[in-house]
Amino acid sequence: MTADAAPADTPGILTVDLGQLAANWRALRDAVAPAECAAVVKADAYGLGARRVVPALYAAGCRTFFIALLDEARDIRRLVPDAVIYALDGVLDGSAEYFARFQVRPVLSSLDEIQEWSRVAQATDQPLPAALHIDTGLNRLGLSARDVRRLAAEPHMAAGVGLNLIMSHLACADEPDHPKNRDQLLTFETLTTLLPNAHRSIAASDGLMLGPAYHFDLVRPGYALYGGQALSAQLAPVAPVVRLQSKILHIRDIAPGETVGYSATWVADRPSRIAIIAAGYADGVSRAASATNAYSGGAVMIGTVRAPIVGRVSMDLITVDITDIAPAPQRGHLVTLIGDGLTLEDAGRASGTIGYEVLTRLGRRFHRTYLGGGADNGEVS
Ligand SMILES: *Cc1c(COP(=O)(O)O)cnc(C)c1O
Repeated sequence: MTADAAPADTPGILTVDLGQLAANWRALRDAVAPAECAAVVKADAYGLGARRVVPALYAAGCRTFFIALLDEARDIRRLVPDAVIYALDGVLDGSAEYFARFQVRPVLSSLDEIQEWSRVAQATDQPLPAALHIDTGLNRLGLSARDVRRLAAEPHMAAGVGLNLIMSHLACADEPDHPKNRDQLLTFETLTTLLPNAHRSIAASDGLMLGPAYHFDLVRPGYALYGGQALSAQLAPVAPVVRLQSKILHIRDIAPGETVGYSATWVADRPSRIAIIAAGYADGVSRAASATNAYSGGAVMIGTVRAPIVGRVSMDLITVDITDIAPAPQRGHLVTLIGDGLTLEDAGRASGTIGYEVLTRLGRRFHRTYLGGGADNGEVS
């Protein structure tokens, strides 16, 4: 990944490497073949910009996309006119016609939804494709085992519904030895035998690393496509896609006993040099990555060296101890908040959360540069 110069109107840059994104998709596709590898692009492609991410994945060969909400459907349909698009949150009150208009397939999670979709299908007099989500132990979306049996006994409830995919979602796939994985797998196999034949899917990024028993006909990675490692036990064959950088606005030297930041939570115990960097919690650096003298928080990369955040993370600024860094960084230099060896997972750990949350919040007000994927050009978001 090459660095761009920061533009004049914003100190920060979010670089998204679309070439690496495509390479990640191909590596996952190869790892799960002959199962199909779809792409989960909900939440604006995990914050990276569906408008750029979706065409890059399509060009790599991806033909099935998952979004969460229907409001993403219109844009994504325009980007990939002939792809299959599923909406994970399913049909909301009265939204069924809209699904049909944009040819988005709802993931149906209750008998009510099935019946609503069935009514639309019967009115249009053609089978309307959909996926069915069955719950196997996560207790979030999906038909309960009892609902599955009821549907099996009363198939007319789904009259007109073209059932293309039956899916479920794992609760503990990030812990490969957790017994719940096998329990959910067995429940899924048992319940799907009661239903009409359709493609089956249970694995997201972490689930697909649990091995071929979890691949079925289709896998649904999101996080791994964007370079995330959902499973610390076994690395997915992917590499980082994002780099977040921002500028040093100011450098100050402080004496022992002086404090840095709100609430004076960090006290210098030696003559210290502090870099003030233009990124804060409004840019996705969690306030939980703040550091006191007793608690080390987040860090940034200055070249190949890790420099610790000191004091509170505020809305627009962080303060970093650069006393030991040589050659001395200068005002205007870019530092790296994610990337250059500092992973999403590192940032997640430093702020008491997971890389997913870090990823989806990155750099909303920063300049965006997209590399590879057929077009190396910047775009101010
Ligand atoms: C978000 C989501 C995925 C993708 O999960 P990742 O861990 O990002 O790969 C897959 N399936 C469902 C049902 C989801 O909600």
